[in-house]
Amino acid sequence: MITLDQARTKPSLCQEYLDSLDLGDLRSRTRSIIYGDVPGTLYDADGEPDENGLAVTLYPHSGSEPGMKPCIRVFSKFFDGKCIKNVDDALSALGDHERAHVLQYEDKTQLDIKLMSYAVDRAEEYFRLNAMKRMATQNLYKEITFKTAQDIIEARSEIPAYQVQVDGFERRRVSEVFRKNAVINLFVRRELVTMIDDVTDGAASAMTPDNVVPCLRKIDAVQDMQGIMERYMDRMVEMTRGNGYNARRTVD
Ligand SMILES: [Zn+2]
Repeated sequence: MITLDQARTKPSLCQEYLDSLDLGDLRSRTRSIIYGDVPGTLYDADGEPDENGLAVTLYPHSGSEPGMKPCIRVFSKFFDGKCIKNVDDALSALGDHERAHVLQYEDKTQLDIKLMSYAVDRAEEYFRLNAMKRMATQNLYKEITFKTAQDIIEARSEIPAYQVQVDGFERRRVSEVFRKNAVINLFVRRELVTMIDDVTDGAASAMTPDNVVPCLRKIDAVQDMQGIMERYMDRMVEMTRGNGYNARRTVD
């Protein structure tokens, strides 16, 4: 049996370590759990570069054969010793967090997330096209509206996964560093949704694939979203200082 310390010394042992973890039904719910970085493709579930990424759940493409299961890719950061300190951290990251993303795929919430993200992308493309043609000025959005909307969608996808992790702390002996990271990740995303809800009459929580444009309008109608987001980031950076978590990503 490979220990975490042994796996850290040799990349060739990392897969063996992952294979030895007691991940319960996650094995049968996924196609594979594979170790390895893909150069230049450290992406999160929404296809965004993820600098904090330890692992990612990759969903089958829409053209995949029916019944195809997601797979989980585990990056080298998982074994760099900075965040994953013990076996319970590893089980929490995969058996709780990534499993939650797999369940989101099974119950189709991930499809809603994807559809909302596409709808924001389409609105943004349309906005840019019109801006280029100098027409349809009534359709203009502020640039920050799209970014804010994508951040909300990312938060809506991640909050349930971090929540499962935090709920699991009762039965897992996770390390202090890892516990803090998960709690902060949950906290900053919840704060974001609450903050945008407060200034948009609940648009962040109410967004579905069917009402993306009305929600974008509500977000766009906020007078000083730039200032609100900057103050939010300052607050988050202040709160998370010294915890090893890079809060910058939310508004990058
Ligand atoms: Zn996640």
